[in-house]
Amino acid sequence: MGERSNAEGIVYLVGAGPGDAGLITVKGMRCLEEADIVVYDRLAGPRLIQMAKPDAVKIYVGKRPDHHAMKQGQINQLLVELARTGKRVVRLKGGDPCVFGRVGEEAAVLKQHGIPYEIVPGVTSAVAVPAYAGIPVTHRDRASSFSVITGHETPERLEERVDWDELARATGTLLFLMGVGHIRSIAEQLMRCGRSQDTPVALVRYGTRAEQATLVGTLATIADEVERVEFRAPAVIIVGEVVLEREVMKWAESRPLFGQRVLVTRARAQSESFIRAIEALGGEPYEYPVIETKLPSDAARLADIEEALYEISSMDWLILTSANGVHAFMDHMKRVKMDVRKLASVRIVAVGPKTREIIESYGLIPDYTAEQFSQEGVFELLKDKVSAGERALIATADLARRWLRDQLQNEGLEVIDLDTYHTVLPDYEDYHIAELLLENSIQLVPFTSSSTVTHTLEMLKRHRVEDPVEALNRTAIFCIGEQTAKTALEAGLKIAAVSEASTMDGLLQAMLQWVQSHHQAAAWS
Ligand code: SAH
Repeated sequence: MGERSNAEGIVYLVGAGPGDAGLITVKGMRCLEEADIVVYDRLAGPRLIQMAKPDAVKIYVGKRPDHHAMKQGQINQLLVELARTGKRVVRLKGGDPCVFGRVGEEAAVLKQHGIPYEIVPGVTSAVAVPAYAGIPVTHRDRASSFSVITGHETPERLEERVDWDELARATGTLLFLMGVGHIRSIAEQLMRCGRSQDTPVALVRYGTRAEQATLVGTLATIADEVERVEFRAPAVIIVGEVVLEREVMKWAESRPLFGQRVLVTRARAQSESFIRAIEALGGEPYEYPVIETKLPSDAARLADIEEALYEISSMDWLILTSANGVHAFMDHMKRVKMDVRKLASVRIVAVGPKTREIIESYGLIPDYTAEQFSQEGVFELLKDKVSAGERALIATADLARRWLRDQLQNEGLEVIDLDTYHTVLPDYEDYHIAELLLENSIQLVPFTSSSTVTHTLEMLKRHRVEDPVEALNRTAIFCIGEQTAKTALEAGLKIAAVSEASTMDGLLQAMLQWVQSHHQAAAWS
C-alpha cells in the first residue's frame, strides 16, 4: 500500500471477516480506510463500510429494495471499470475472499485486463462462527482435522461433487457453508455413508453478529429441528464431536448486551468511547450519524461572534454547553487570530465531564464543571457564585434553549448568548437502515440530545423509512435527561427509560438494566 507512483488503479480483494466489525484484519482495515471506492455486499456487513473515508464512493452490489443484487459478471466488469479510472478500489467480501468467495473469477478478470490486484485474507466464517458459539473446529481429543464443504448445490449435484464416503469415514469436523436449505439431504447422506446417527450437529446462524443463534441436535434429529424452529440461513453447519464442547466453552451469549444492536446517532468522532463500551459488553453498535456541525457562514452572525471575541478578556464567565460548542468556539478564536491567553482571567464553566475533557484538550482547565449535564445543572452550580453586574458569554448552538441566559439575566448579569455553530443533517446514503428497522434487527436506540431525536426522524425519512415513528417504536428507546425525553415523547416515541445520570455512562447503565429485565433468549439458542 502507501502512495502509488502513478495513476494506475488497483483492486484490493479484502476479507471482511464474518460480521463482527472487529474481526477484519489490520491490513484489511487500512485498505478500507484508504480506499477511493468500496464495493461490498450483504455479508460483508454495512457496519464496516462506515470505516471508509466519508468521501469514498460506496457501491452496494447486494440486494436493495429498489434493485436486484448485481450478477457476478457485472461485478467483475464493474471492478475493471472502476480500477481503470485510476482509483484505489476495495472489493470487500464476507469472511475470507478465497473461501467460497468467487475471488478466483474476479482476480482472473482483473488479470485479463492488466489491472493490478492484491488479496487480503480474512477470518473465515467456517472457523470464526463456530468459535463464537463455543465450538472449536479441532480439539485434542475430539477432532484432528476439519473440512469446509459447500452445501449450496442441489442434492444430486452435492452427491456428485462431494465424496460422502470419504467424509463419513473421516474422523474430523465437517463444516458446511451455504447448506441450511439442504440440511436434510446432508444429514441423510452422512448417515447413509456410515456416520452414526448420534453424531452431534450444530447450526450457527449469523455468527459474531447481534442475530447470532445456535441450534444443536444430532444427524438423526437436526433436519426436523431446523423445520420446527424455522431456522434460516445463513449459517455454518458443524458436524462432529467438537459440538459437545459448546456445553463448557459457550461464551458469547453470556455477555450482557449479547443480541443487541444499538443505533448510535452521533458521529464517530464523538462516540468512539460509547461504541467501544457497547462492544465490550457484547452489543453491536450500528453507526448512524444524524448530526453534522457547521460554523455559521452568514456575515452578520460572524460579525457578532467577532465582536464578542474581541471583548473576551473583559468577560467574567465563559460557559461552554457542549463538546461541539467548545470546538466551534476554539475554531472562531483561531479564525480571528485570538490568542487563548486572552482567556487568562475568564472563569470557564463546562456543562459536564465530556465538555470538560474537550476544553482540557485545548490546554484550558475549566474552573467549574456542572454535575448535572444541562442548562439547569449549570445554573444550579453558578447561582451562588455569580454577582450582579458581571459579564458572561455562553457559547452555544443555534437551536439551543435560552433558559440559562434568562436566568443569569435575572441575577443581574450582562449575558452574551452566542450561536457559535449550527447543526445540519449529514448528507450520506444508507441502504440498510430501513430493512434493519423493519426486520426488528435494531433493538436499542439511545438518544443523547433533543436534536438527535428530531434529526434521526428526519434522516430515516431520507433513507426510505416511511413511518419513522412506528419504526423506532419497534425498538427500546433511551433518553439522556428529561429534555431529550420530552422531545421524544412529543414526537410520538415510546420511551423505555430515561437515564438517571445525564452522561453516556448513565445511558449505558439504563440500557443494561432494561436488557437484563426484558431480554429473553430464544428457548433453543
Ligand atoms: N467467504 C465466506 C463464505 C462465503 S459463502 C467466508 O469465508 O466466510 C456464504 C456462506 O458463509 C453462508 O451461506 C454461510 O454458510 C456462511 N457464513 C458467512 N458469514 C456467516 C455468519 N456470520 N454466520 C453464519 N454463517 C455465515
